[in-house]
Amino acid sequence: MTGAGGSSPRWQRGWWTGAQRIRSPNHGPRPVGAAIDLVVLHSISLPPGAFGGDEIVRLFTNQLDWSAHPYFETIRGLQVSAHFLVRRGGHTLQFVSTDRRAWHAGTSAWQGRPNCNDYSIGIELEGLEGGTFEPAQYGALVALLRALARRHPLQAVTGHEHVAPGRKQDPGPGFDWQALLAWPGYPVGLLPGH
Ligand SMILES: [Zn+2]
Repeated sequence: MTGAGGSSPRWQRGWWTGAQRIRSPNHGPRPVGAAIDLVVLHSISLPPGAFGGDEIVRLFTNQLDWSAHPYFETIRGLQVSAHFLVRRGGHTLQFVSTDRRAWHAGTSAWQGRPNCNDYSIGIELEGLEGGTFEPAQYGALVALLRALARRHPLQAVTGHEHVAPGRKQDPGPGFDWQALLAWPGYPVGLLPGH
């Protein structure tokens, strides 16, 4: 994969040049010494089932018009972010430096460790919870996971539903974990942690 300048995507202080950069104000410091060793996958579409609009970007940048859709009223005032968003066609956006703590997992725990936001990277896949995802998204996700594994001591990739069971259901049964693990280039040693 080469960028416009002919060079491979690389990292700049937690920002990946393989992604379009749109800064979210919704982030904070990670705990001192936190090892960033987990990836949490999510799904999102706004309103649910609608793809391709700018509503997700607006949500993550606190610019969503809450009155524009009845569903938005149900999340009015929400301040959230993920580090990355992978669109249906595989286009990848980054909102928060991976060195910073994004606000994606909420109350959560992984293998007994609470507060996943402290030590994880959040990746949103544009999609409907329980629905399927596009091959281009698996390809883009694997490229992103490879890049992340080069920069952070990643141990596992898991789903929001697995770190917040009973409270969250995304990305849901339509996400094909076997396809992800079998995808060419999937980083060896990155365990599905659910
Ligand atoms: Zn989620």
